[in-house]
Amino acid sequence: IRFSDEKGWHDAHITARAPLPVDPASSVLHYAQEIFEGLKAYRLADGGTALFRPDANARRFQDSARRLAMPELPESLFVESIERLVAADRDWVPGGEGALYLRPFMFASEVFLGVKPAAEYLYMVIASSVGAYWKGGMRPIAVWVSREHTRAAAGGTGAAKCGGNYAASLIAQKAAIGQGCDQVVFLDAVERRWVEELGGMNLFFVMDDGSLVTPPLTGTILPGITRDSLIALARDAGLTVREEPYAIDQWRADAASGRLVEAFACGTAAVVTPVGRVVDAEGDFSIGSGGTGQTTQRLHDALTAIQRGAAPDRHGWLRRLD
Ligand code: PMP
Repeated sequence: IRFSDEKGWHDAHITARAPLPVDPASSVLHYAQEIFEGLKAYRLADGGTALFRPDANARRFQDSARRLAMPELPESLFVESIERLVAADRDWVPGGEGALYLRPFMFASEVFLGVKPAAEYLYMVIASSVGAYWKGGMRPIAVWVSREHTRAAAGGTGAAKCGGNYAASLIAQKAAIGQGCDQVVFLDAVERRWVEELGGMNLFFVMDDGSLVTPPLTGTILPGITRDSLIALARDAGLTVREEPYAIDQWRADAASGRLVEAFACGTAAVVTPVGRVVDAEGDFSIGSGGTGQTTQRLHDALTAIQRGAAPDRHGWLRRLD
């Protein structure tokens, strides 16, 4: 779908995937005016297909657009664009533990070299089948704490899902992999002590009294839709969830004392991932017994059962496509 200041949203169509002609002076190539989303279509237990919370992705896309001074795609157009793409070939949605990953994105397509919001945009959705994220069960990941680089500062674009955030975080993600870890842990940009999130996932901590802690949405972390869903499911299960700042030194101390029994990360791709080990210049530490904790497993199972239509959808999160 195209947007121009003159015509508004227009020219919606579905085509086979092909390279885009991009003018070297397209403003996105120079000023990174680009936002995106990630969500999945699942094959349900009864054979149907459904999107998981596309309305939440639509709203986050609008929030990202506002922050990047881009036009807001109406929620109904966002959801319809995805529904029509998936409906074009339902066989794309794999069964079993796979899913159809959907990547809506929008960028400034105006041919203009100058720092100003563009007058023309292109919105597209890519669909791509993905297999099971965890083959043979969940495996705890190791994470590395970035002491040098931060992901987002107050007043910046941390709460938006824009390419620029990832460009800024790649160097730290590369360092994490160089340290033999799977993901980077970002700390806040001011005090460099509050745990914010991973390179591409939000974080939860499980305490020995069964309660959960997750960093609050202060504007510098991405408001994950998986995070929001897990908070609701944990509360449904009678667990206390506190959205409050959690310091890296506290994390280390709680892991050592046994007050912290589990930690896990969450996002659309892996849904839930246990965190087993933290590598940090100020002292490495492990969490729990090294396996997947009970609460982590339980929340993973509860959410994936809803996504696959194997448990009642009490929150109305599934949008059926048939
Ligand atoms: N934080 C970051 C930086 C991410 O890239 C993602 C993945 N979109 C998340 C958190 C998790 O968000 P969601 O649950 O909406 O996938």
